[in-house]
Amino acid sequence: MKTVSVLGATGSIGESTLAIIRKHPSRFRVHSLSAHKNTEKTIALAKEFEPTVVTVTDPDSYQQVKAALSSSNTEVLFGAEALEHIVTESAVDLVVAGIVGNAGMPSVLAAVKAGKTLLLANKESIVAAGELVMAEAASTAAKIIPLDSEHNAIYQCLGGNYEVGERPAHVRNITLTASGGPFWQTPSESFIHITPAEAVAHPKWNMGAKISVDSATLMNKGLEVIEAHWLFNMPNEDINVMVHPQSIIHSLVHFIDGSVLAQLGMPDMQIPISYGLGLGERISNGADFLDLLAAGELNFVEPDTNKFRCLSLARDAIKIGGTAPAVLNAANEVTVAAFLQHKIRFDQIATFNDKMLNQVSIQTVESMQQLIDLDQEVRNLTTEMIEKQQQ
Ligand code: NDP
Ligand code: MG
Repeated sequence: MKTVSVLGATGSIGESTLAIIRKHPSRFRVHSLSAHKNTEKTIALAKEFEPTVVTVTDPDSYQQVKAALSSSNTEVLFGAEALEHIVTESAVDLVVAGIVGNAGMPSVLAAVKAGKTLLLANKESIVAAGELVMAEAASTAAKIIPLDSEHNAIYQCLGGNYEVGERPAHVRNITLTASGGPFWQTPSESFIHITPAEAVAHPKWNMGAKISVDSATLMNKGLEVIEAHWLFNMPNEDINVMVHPQSIIHSLVHFIDGSVLAQLGMPDMQIPISYGLGLGERISNGADFLDLLAAGELNFVEPDTNKFRCLSLARDAIKIGGTAPAVLNAANEVTVAAFLQHKIRFDQIATFNDKMLNQVSIQTVESMQQLIDLDQEVRNLTTEMIEKQQQ
């Protein structure tokens, strides 16, 4: 029996995780759940899974969840610090990091510091704090299992003896596949007309709003190149990106003998998450089985980085190093939110991200507090820049 802490339980990753846990009651127990604003869902999940602790980070939602669970055995905690508390509890075996954005960063680092097994979906934390997280993981021997489908595919191809953080042996390079999002065939002149509703309607994956917009700009693939750089300890040049619109091949590993291994499956996050929860053992989940004959043609196309500038910006950030990925990530969180609120156009996400990456002075990464302060600074600057252009 493994006890699990599910961070971001009310989100898309949380939902897929809990669907698998629900299927395997003798294998997993939910120790803790975290949520932000979705009060009703939090209460329903707490009643269903009866965790020891629920953590809520939004103050109003916290009050309501606390009142609703007052007669239960579940303790309700408030705030970001409480997230760090639940992931370090000795009763917790596995931490599922499913919070969206930089808000997930301190709890990811805390889990690794406590030597937990971290099932990592929250890519922003590794993009911004990869250097710190990987150094901590090496010193505490915390095991990291990537849940992001591409990184999970590579992890599966590397085999059971591979530990995240090592440069994989006998590997020439890797290829991350990208669906290309909804606009990979849209001419860039039309980007100015793209609406938030069009951008979040992903053709293949059903995900939260932020990552759906990131997929549409290809920033998601850029963040994933940075994520792969840290998780697999590989340089930028060894991480290829290829558009594969059918999202059947989730990524590929090219070995020095010319062999190429890939992981295939339906585009359903239950597949990578169940591989993580099973700690390498295959366990059943609710995903459909792949039928290649029904899938038909599989296509592969070079990504157009003139059109999707966010992908090049991520590669620039790796080259610059230090806090550059953290700056890009923080700027992107603000620009994506502004786009979703109709404050900027779709094409301006890349423009503003570019401006911030080139404007903010880059430092060496030293501490989590430095990254939290930097995150706030970049958020303020990006918000100011957006407000100025609106006047
Ligand atoms: P969702 O938007 O669906 O869910 C986000 C979760 O984070 C919710 O539980 C939400 O709580 C919580 N949350 C939001 N803001 C805060 C905050 N400030 N503090 C604490 N918790 C917060 O996102 P996804 O599940 O799609 O994505 C989660 C992470 O996984 C992202 O980093 C994404 O990049 C990554 N990922 C997701 C994939 C997917 O298929 N969805 C695939 C690969 C990676 P509430 O709802 O209660 O407000
Ligand atoms: Mg992915």
